Amino acid sequence: MIPTVNGARFAPCHVAVYLATGLRLKVHMYSMDYESSLDRAMDAVPDIQSEGERLSIPDPNAQKDGAFTRLTNLEDIAQTVSRPPDHVHRFIQRDFGTNGKLSDGVGRYNGSFSDSDFAAVIDAYVESYVLCAECGLPDTRLVTEDGTPMLRCDACGAFRPISKRQSSSQASKQEAIKEGNTYTLEIVSTGRKGDGVAERGEYTIFVPGAEEGDVVEAYIDNVSGSLAFARLVTN
Ligand SMILES: [Zn+2]
Repeated sequence: MIPTVNGARFAPCHVAVYLATGLRLKVHMYSMDYESSLDRAMDAVPDIQSEGERLSIPDPNAQKDGAFTRLTNLEDIAQTVSRPPDHVHRFIQRDFGTNGKLSDGVGRYNGSFSDSDFAAVIDAYVESYVLCAECGLPDTRLVTEDGTPMLRCDACGAFRPISKRQSSSQASKQEAIKEGNTYTLEIVSTGRKGDGVAERGEYTIFVPGAEEGDVVEAYIDNVSGSLAFARLVTN
């Protein structure tokens, strides 16, 4: 029942608010009356509130399957943020440092990942590729200017490179990794699955069987975005 004081009703009001950081907060307030508390909430966060409703990203649904983990609702998530599923998929691969496959809107990744692993990577994606850094709204488009990926905001007109990491990589374009080529690579770290990891220009290259500190000849089997998957060449 709704408590009353001097005839005024106290009713709980829950307002989901998205902040510019992509964090989702549930604001929980009690006020004299439901209508006026809602008005006050809307006054306090007018734009973010309305955008928050539009950017209601479904919770990631992770499904383990042997050595793989599927993200069964990748397509729904991508549609919510108006981005191609393949773009979201490639970001997840890079963030997880693993290879994967996208088919029928479902992402499948080598390794074991939880709902919260996926939630964290989706948050990072939204921050980099969806939310405007100036106004915090998601009314943005990915565009390319002179080969540089940019985020253009239709709400405030802001225009920025996607990230420093990507824009600074322009200088190392000549170090492109190509499928079918063999490179001499220094293994600088170890991936989540135990693969050797090398860096070259903007590329992160996974070399199964190689260990940190090794200098190896690696044949590039597959390139996906800035990730490359290689195998050791034995002479
Ligand atoms: Zn903006």
